[in-house]
Amino acid sequence: MRWFYRCPGCGAEYAIEPGRYLCDVCAAGQKPNQPLEGVLECAWEGNYSGGPDEVPLPVAEKYLPPLPVGATPLWEPHRLREETGFPHLFFKDDTCEPTGSFKDRASYLVAGFAREHGITEIALASTGNAASSMSGIGAAAGLKITVFLPKKAPVAKRVQVLQYGATLKEVDGTYDVAFDQSLAYSAETGVLSRNTAYNPLTIEGKKTVSFEIVRDLARAREHEAKRAGRLGELAHKDYVCPDHVFVPVGDGVIIAGVFKGFEDLVKLGRIQKVPTIWACQAEGSSALARAMESGVFGDPVPSDTIADSISVDVPRNGAHALAKLRKHNGRAVVVSDAQILDAQKELASGAGLFAEPSSSAAWAGFRKASSMLRADETIVVLLTGSGLKDVAGAMKGLGL
Ligand SMILES: *Cc1c(COP(=O)(O)O)cnc(C)c1O
Repeated sequence: MRWFYRCPGCGAEYAIEPGRYLCDVCAAGQKPNQPLEGVLECAWEGNYSGGPDEVPLPVAEKYLPPLPVGATPLWEPHRLREETGFPHLFFKDDTCEPTGSFKDRASYLVAGFAREHGITEIALASTGNAASSMSGIGAAAGLKITVFLPKKAPVAKRVQVLQYGATLKEVDGTYDVAFDQSLAYSAETGVLSRNTAYNPLTIEGKKTVSFEIVRDLARAREHEAKRAGRLGELAHKDYVCPDHVFVPVGDGVIIAGVFKGFEDLVKLGRIQKVPTIWACQAEGSSALARAMESGVFGDPVPSDTIADSISVDVPRNGAHALAKLRKHNGRAVVVSDAQILDAQKELASGAGLFAEPSSSAAWAGFRKASSMLRADETIVVLLTGSGLKDVAGAMKGLGL
């Protein structure tokens, strides 16, 4: 199996090696205040001989850090199934990743890459979760982590960074300012950047969730048949593809990773086609949804939403995510802060799953889009961060 980076824009290929981030040709066309140009994808050719639970990755397994990332639970929320009338509704619960968010899938692969190449320090900008994630995974892996974090990031995420022993550089400004400062730091020091989308491994690491979903659904199907006493009638399947996946979107890296996972699964012959992926955005941070309508990313609109993890002015991976949504007939759905807070309460009180506002946007997105779905379809909602990460946000939903 040969691994390399490929530019989805112009098709140029590059070696996967330290110092390589963007496509030289396409990045030259970068415009100010626009999504990154020249974001690269990991690509592979040749035969893959891994077992049914294995995921092809561009980093050798022995370098991946010693902590349990991924293999998160798939929930069958019986009460919410009944209430919504969707008997094949599932939650993929990434709130229980080691540091409490989906970002661990990306940090894990980036940390593995660093170890493989003898790199000892990683720097990044973050709205909060990427910072706490890289700090925690870095602690397990023995790496020095430097994070650039806006001062207004939720306190729990800041405290996590410090508890994990990372170096915290507080930024007096937005995530966009932090992004630029962290890139300047990496350029000066030569330290590996884990900036989301900029480092292609952040996208690749997130694809693992799609591989888990198709296996989890196959097991859930057998489990259900067994409970109903009909296991004998069921033809065994190694993989079951959902019809719809709801994903909260800020920078557009998670959703691109989800797409990449399903594309790889099709390439491997494990499933037939990529499911319908829904980009769920907050009204106050909806650049990607707007671009889906108009075809272009306009001037940035200052973001304003309770859901801090999906609050971005310029979605770094916007252009790449938009191309994927177009290619696979993905959809967008936009929800208000009030709908997000209602959704958070509904998830917690109706299923026992306490998710942060950004993840609750995925549930709110499903609720809003559900009139367009058939009741017999299989639906997975991706819940990406723990509610305990932003207690102040959750308090607003309770009127406290
Ligand atoms: C980062 C994050 C998102 C959004 O992911 P993007 O790649 O920025 O679109 C959603 N939910 C949580 C909890 C996150 O931390």
